[in-house]
Amino acid sequence: MKDFIRDGEIEDLLVKSESPDHKHVLDIIEKSKELKGLTVEETAVLLQTEDPELLQAIFEAAREIKQGIYGNRLVLFAPLYIANYCSNNCLYCGFRRDNQDLNRVALTMDQIAEEVRAIEREGHKRLLMLCGEHPSRSSLDYFIEAIETAYATRTDDGGEIRRINVEIAPMSAPDFRRLKAASIGTYVLFQETYHHETYKTMHPSGPKADFAWRLTAMHRAQEGGIDDVGIGALFGLYDYRYEVLGLLIHARTLEADCGVGPHTISIPRLEPAFNAPAAISPPCPVSDDEFKKLVAIIRMAVPYTGMILSTRESPEIRTAVFELGISQISAGSRTNPGGYTKDSSENFRAAQFNLGDTRTADEVIHDIAIRGHIPSFCTACYRLGRTGRDFMDLAKPGLIQHFCRSNAMMTFKEYLMDYASPRTLEVGERLLAQLLAETEKPETRRILEERLERIEQGERDLFI
Ligand code: SAM
Ligand code: SF4
Repeated sequence: MKDFIRDGEIEDLLVKSESPDHKHVLDIIEKSKELKGLTVEETAVLLQTEDPELLQAIFEAAREIKQGIYGNRLVLFAPLYIANYCSNNCLYCGFRRDNQDLNRVALTMDQIAEEVRAIEREGHKRLLMLCGEHPSRSSLDYFIEAIETAYATRTDDGGEIRRINVEIAPMSAPDFRRLKAASIGTYVLFQETYHHETYKTMHPSGPKADFAWRLTAMHRAQEGGIDDVGIGALFGLYDYRYEVLGLLIHARTLEADCGVGPHTISIPRLEPAFNAPAAISPPCPVSDDEFKKLVAIIRMAVPYTGMILSTRESPEIRTAVFELGISQISAGSRTNPGGYTKDSSENFRAAQFNLGDTRTADEVIHDIAIRGHIPSFCTACYRLGRTGRDFMDLAKPGLIQHFCRSNAMMTFKEYLMDYASPRTLEVGERLLAQLLAETEKPETRRILEERLERIEQGERDLFI
């Protein structure tokens, strides 16, 4: 598999789409509402749109698509950093090799179990496990043992992790097969930037300096049997319009070559990080307005691909972009190994970057529920084998909606019973009652009422 990103072609597309015709933009917006996605050329036109009236039409279309496909659900997860040793030197990251002042940590299995218990006590069922890239301190054997440890760790009152997604350095197809055998959910990896020159500057040394090895990782993951893959770009390194087109070309290439596109797209924006020059002054900062625009356009271009927003963003921005297309969020996150169990004063010198949203998981859940979003801890698709192409086959005709809404409500009910603060419990019960009343099909309402009652009586882990 070779490098398939041609910088010149992306630059040309952006030049050709400058100052787009009003009617042409409106036609593309209308087309996006058919939920069949957009071509790279059409997406370039939307990215070059600056007219405030047309931008409003873009936001409205994105809202409609998000609501139509995902409803009000927001799936929650917690990141778990297990080690911060790294042999790369990414100029934007606090874990970079040349950061001599960082407290380097590789958690033991006992420490990982302790961290997992702390995350479970917040009500999380989904983890994203991460670490730096290091041959001995973050080997694949170590990482797989960490996954096994996390799945096996339960709290006395029934806390458990039901799905572990992973975000680690690219590997060979046989190694991806080993990772798959450890029962991972999605394999996530960000290209950081699709612009070759910028990539080279930002990754001066270490294995990550190889652009093509990273770009083709998702193809090897699929070859190794991992059919849910998540791509992403780190916004702030290069022109955001270029990066959105890079993401889209990546998605389309995966669809063409592997029969299924990415399960998720992540849209991290550069945050300040300890001793990381490119994070302290980003080369191409992305404004809040540009960020909202890129979220909306990605939603229109790849309507069935989930979009992940982390706690890098502030509560205000998170709230603003939920309705424009976000389907998964992290909450109550720590980016330093040991951060869920250690005193917060120790965090800074071991963290990857600073957080924009430092609220607890319960505070985030209270806030999103009050705004009418359903916090979901659902892991049903992955556990029932609805992944990769099977997932897309269900999602595209709208069938997945039916499962997702009910599963979101049931897992939220579990959260309310087991972990919610009194004020979140109150808001949550009100929201569930309203959702039940709005459930149109009498049969679905009956099943939901019965399941919610069973959860109230102590049953757990119900899903359809
Ligand atoms: N080390 C692996 C890698 O680089 O792919 C695992 C993931 S790394 C721990 C997680 C991601 O954090 C990186 O891919 C990068 O996009 C992001 N990141 C690093 N520094 C950041 C910063 N200062 N602000 C926001 N995101 C950052
Ligand atoms: Fe290491 Fe990943 Fe940070 Fe780069 S982004 S220095 S590879 S942890």
